[in-house]
Amino acid sequence: MPLMKSWVDSANTDTTDFPLNNLPYGAFLTEEGEQHCGVAIGDMILDITALEADGVLAVPDEEEVFFFGDWTEFMALGAGVWEGFRTAVTELLSADYADPQGLTEYMVPQVGTQLVLPFAVSEYTDFYASLNHASNVGTMFRGPENALPPNWLSIPIGYNGRASSVQVSGTDVRRPWGQLKAPDQELPVFAPCKRFDIELEMGAIVGQPSEGPVTVGEADDMIFGYVLLNDWSARDIQAWEYQPLGPFQSKATATTISPWIVPKAALEPFRCDTPERQRPLLDHLKEPGPMLYDIALEVGMAPEGGEETVISQTNYNQMYYSAAQQLAHHTTSGCPMSVGDLLGSGTISGVEKHQRGALLEITWGGKDPITLDSGETRTFIEDGDTLTLRGGAVGDGYRVGFGSCTAKVLPALDDPYKR
Ligand code: MN
Repeated sequence: MPLMKSWVDSANTDTTDFPLNNLPYGAFLTEEGEQHCGVAIGDMILDITALEADGVLAVPDEEEVFFFGDWTEFMALGAGVWEGFRTAVTELLSADYADPQGLTEYMVPQVGTQLVLPFAVSEYTDFYASLNHASNVGTMFRGPENALPPNWLSIPIGYNGRASSVQVSGTDVRRPWGQLKAPDQELPVFAPCKRFDIELEMGAIVGQPSEGPVTVGEADDMIFGYVLLNDWSARDIQAWEYQPLGPFQSKATATTISPWIVPKAALEPFRCDTPERQRPLLDHLKEPGPMLYDIALEVGMAPEGGEETVISQTNYNQMYYSAAQQLAHHTTSGCPMSVGDLLGSGTISGVEKHQRGALLEITWGGKDPITLDSGETRTFIEDGDTLTLRGGAVGDGYRVGFGSCTAKVLPALDDPYKR
């Protein structure tokens, strides 16, 4: 599919994240401080809440779907409504639209506009589903013989995270305190995290509920769209706490997502297969078709007041399990899934060193520091560093991008228990 032309000039380039082919869903604050739903087009936002209020755009047989400036209610209406609405917005923003002048009052510049979380995160689950990442981390912690846990090639391993930790791009992250125990110490201490890290991930947003187990195909149909996701990780807290129930406080400080939900429909041309299985999957996890996507990803790190260095470049197509497989696995026990559930893909790492999606892997547990363009070196994140995830699927003369998923790390506060 080629670039689709819009009457919004800034959308008609091969560098914008938001051509007419994309039309991602976000939420923003108006000049009056109201939260509205918006669709990104080029460097502008189309104000969906205002269009609905004025009767220019409506979901058939529904009233005020966008009144609260949040996409949760829209997601719950189902795939037929998603498709019809996307068609209607595409027509409004197409170069063929008859009255673009009549829509200019509904256009808001992205620059200077504050974006907020576009949906209510119902629950958040994070996975561990990149073979390269799991092999690297397992080698570091358990040695190359036991790198992959015995279950890894049979099930997408996950843990239940905290929906309350999810925040929108641009929100600062505070370095956490926690229990740390260095290998040469007998007992832990309570101190600020010294090994604070990122995890480069994609987030899949569940748009339809389930009651019992679902197939991989049904799971794919339940997914509304995708965001970039940074699963901030306190490695020293994690190393001490994780056995036997998995990560807990090390992952609960913050989870940053990009502000625009890229609809599954925009990603259709970029579907691809998961890699060949190293062990046959049981039938309930087999995919009926391509369920992964070719999305180029990168991570930038900028020290306080300094230029950014790209520290990782990889692709979502490196995952061993797709979001649809993860969601299907999530329901096998009968676990009900809800509208607004967020699934983190797990850290996305390629084979090469520069394709690793976490500092833990890039610096091999801190043993092999990286040098930034400024000349500074890093093993883990320093106070004042800004970490930015970017991603996009590249088509014929256009790019379906995700915007940026960025946050600055602030110094730990004083001991929270000395008061
Ligand atoms: Mn993670």
